[in-house]
Amino acid sequence: MLKKERAHYILKELQRLYPEPPIPLDHKDPYTLLVAVLLSAQCTDERVNQVTPSLWQLADNCVDMASKEVEAIKAIIRPCGLSPQKSKAIKRLSEILIEEHEGQVPADMEALERLPGVGHKTASVVMAQAFGEPAFPVDTHIHRLAQRWGLSNGKNVAQTEKDLKKLFPKEKWNELHLQIIYYGREYCSARGCDGTICPICTTCYPKRKTPKITKKA
Ligand code: SF4
Repeated sequence: MLKKERAHYILKELQRLYPEPPIPLDHKDPYTLLVAVLLSAQCTDERVNQVTPSLWQLADNCVDMASKEVEAIKAIIRPCGLSPQKSKAIKRLSEILIEEHEGQVPADMEALERLPGVGHKTASVVMAQAFGEPAFPVDTHIHRLAQRWGLSNGKNVAQTEKDLKKLFPKEKWNELHLQIIYYGREYCSARGCDGTICPICTTCYPKRKTPKITKKA
């Protein structure tokens, strides 16, 4: 199969499996989504969803959050890991939203990336899921699947993002990002598969006999 044909088949298959993929992080507006995505760095979405109800009780908007002590934020978010850095980033980004963005989360990639604790992936998730802007956030899981499916050579996440954006129509990016994450969780974890088990690989690579080794992000 050619790369374009593989992409077309994968798109169809993911659409069949996950016709309406839900946003995995609980949130009520762009601000709570931004904070939840920041918390999800090196932490599972499930753990973040357990922690955020208590955090929103403390503060669920930038004005209230900016008035809290870093220690109070840190105590709540500790189960998510990296709590010293994440708590400082949450307080500081809340102050910046007030100082520079009239208390609103900017629907602007560059402005988001300038916020503390917000990298390209976090900014892309917020653009896609809070504002519906086409983005293709690539994390280590999407990076791995793109290589297993032969859609990217896996040089780094930036290259994988470029390759996937070239292969798939823009209007599919946001949904596809979620569908690949759900597929990775259900069938295609980091360990445990050599690339010869389920229909996507066996259809795209019927002759694959040896394990597919993927490069880390
Ligand atoms: S065969 Fe393995 S590598 Fe390929 S999609 Fe299935 S689980 Fe992933």
